[in-house]
Amino acid sequence: MMKTILVIEDEEFVRENILELLDAEGFEAFGAENGKIGFELAKVKVPDLILCDVMMPGLDGYGVLTALRQDSVLASIPFIFLTAKASKSDLRQGMELGADDYLTKPFTRAELLGAIGIRLKKQAAVEDRYHAELQQMKAKLNYLIHNDSLTNLPNRFSLREQFKQIQKTDSSPEQLVTVLSVGLDRFNQINTHLGNSIGDLLLKAVAERLSVCVGNQGIVARLNDDQFAVILATIKHRNEASQIAQDILTRLSETFELGGQEIFVTASLGIALCPRDGTEIEQLLNHAHIAMMKAKQQGGDHYEFYAAAYNIGSSDRLALQTSLRYALEREELEVYYQPQVNLKTGEIFGAEALVRWQHPERGLVLPSKFIPIAEETGLIVPIGEWVLYTACKQVKVWQNSGFPSLQIAVNLSSRQFGQLDLRHRLVQIIINTGIEPKYIELELTESMLVQNTEVAIRRLNALKALGVKIAIDDFGTGYSSLSYLQQFPFDVLKIDRCFIRNITENTSNAAITEAIIAMAKNLNLKLIAEGVETEEELSFVCQHQCDGMQGYLFSRPVPVQEFHQLLLTNKRLPLPTSHKLAE
Ligand code: C2E
Ligand code: MG
Ligand code: MG
Repeated sequence: MMKTILVIEDEEFVRENILELLDAEGFEAFGAENGKIGFELAKVKVPDLILCDVMMPGLDGYGVLTALRQDSVLASIPFIFLTAKASKSDLRQGMELGADDYLTKPFTRAELLGAIGIRLKKQAAVEDRYHAELQQMKAKLNYLIHNDSLTNLPNRFSLREQFKQIQKTDSSPEQLVTVLSVGLDRFNQINTHLGNSIGDLLLKAVAERLSVCVGNQGIVARLNDDQFAVILATIKHRNEASQIAQDILTRLSETFELGGQEIFVTASLGIALCPRDGTEIEQLLNHAHIAMMKAKQQGGDHYEFYAAAYNIGSSDRLALQTSLRYALEREELEVYYQPQVNLKTGEIFGAEALVRWQHPERGLVLPSKFIPIAEETGLIVPIGEWVLYTACKQVKVWQNSGFPSLQIAVNLSSRQFGQLDLRHRLVQIIINTGIEPKYIELELTESMLVQNTEVAIRRLNALKALGVKIAIDDFGTGYSSLSYLQQFPFDVLKIDRCFIRNITENTSNAAITEAIIAMAKNLNLKLIAEGVETEEELSFVCQHQCDGMQGYLFSRPVPVQEFHQLLLTNKRLPLPTSHKLAE
């Protein structure tokens, strides 16, 4: 860029001469005939350099320099005095005021250009340094805005920005953006007992382990205290999220060596899926946090998916909790039965008992709303036992009225499964209802079994010894490694509805379902497809040799009388023709 030079000189001849010379050298030069005009011009033009005569009528060179050096914008402009007499004291005065150089008139062209050249070069160096510092400061500021100073992880602000970025770039509908909330169990105790500096070391170490676990599959951020968040951007199925969540839990539960001490912590993890649990980052973080708190309440070292049930407002929740206490004695609970259909014959072979709550004011409340509350309060134990008893008694009635081999599937909650006298209670129910144990199928979910494998296997075997069957419910939504589940003595595997849904359009669902079916066949498990809603889904499960199905396509869960009608009318599922031919 062309450099600009202001020449303040009252002798017109000298001024014009210098201007001409500078012009010829490629500078943009302009002149002022006295100090006052010169200073005003400097304010308007902000030149790169000023040449200024010392002796001028009115405001002289010293005056101009003094004024310039007091102006925040103009103070740093290189300033060269032009002087005729060059007395040493005059020069010193000029230098003390902050002049950069002086030229004694008359000077040669080379002297003038030399002095200007040196000043401009120095000025450029100063400016470069200034810009570099500014850049550095900006970068530092940017880093501080986006990162947590203790762990150097991105912070909440940064997470929000990166989430927007992911949403912009993520165009594939197969991609499942997942938000994990990670909290350390009992972190406060560590801080209190071992001191904040150990607490800080622990947070740093946790940050590192989290980053290693997540790798390039997503972003790890620290939100505050012991709260971390992870966004997973590359996964395609919630099973992968479960896998990563489990990896994180395992990794964090390994001993930390900090400040010469061995420290053991566990974490709780909540998972929210976009768009199911929200599309905004704050909402997803909030829901993941709720799920994480839930995992914490259940003892920690554990992950939970956010389910809509957890979102019930706390006052609403409290109200439900209170009225749920009376639901049993006021006979507001009811068991619905959903037919289970044999896929070879199309006939009903059994029913799953599903509890319903006829709330006096709210109407029908579904289990997804009140089972979590019942779990939390422990009410699930008497409720579950009542369902088991009621369903067994009912099935015995149906068996006696002409459907002798009808079987009943009942869901067991994790609390119930943990009950020490569960087996004893089951025996009581078998005796009281007169049902043969082989017609009872207990449905359990994966998450109930993985926490203490050995104990779980022992309990399952004790139940099986009575003659009841064990089904693994909602298969595929939890830990999901079938090879891991192989050690449990299951009879039946129920493939979760989320795999069956849109199976003909969703190729990754189809692939996973095929793999599950193949492995289950290998393990000799009976296979039931849950939530079959369409003919296409039915064809798929038939083609892949599932043994049974449950789903709206055949019937929703219905009250006792309706189920009885289904039996009496001998309702059958029309099977796809291709399937029948294959039989
Ligand atoms: P689950 O054991 O997996 O039960 C299957 C759920 O899928 C039922 O929901 C059923 O109504 C629903 N379903 C069946 N076919 C279809 C279909 O074609 N499409 C769709 N969209 N849904 C279908 P429900 O009755 O709301 O029960 C939800 C969950 O609550 C159950 O899942 C079970 O985990 C729990 N639950 C229900 N009754 C009891 C109980 O007595 N004790 C315990 N511990 N849990 C229960
Ligand atoms: Mg079930
Ligand atoms: Mg299920």
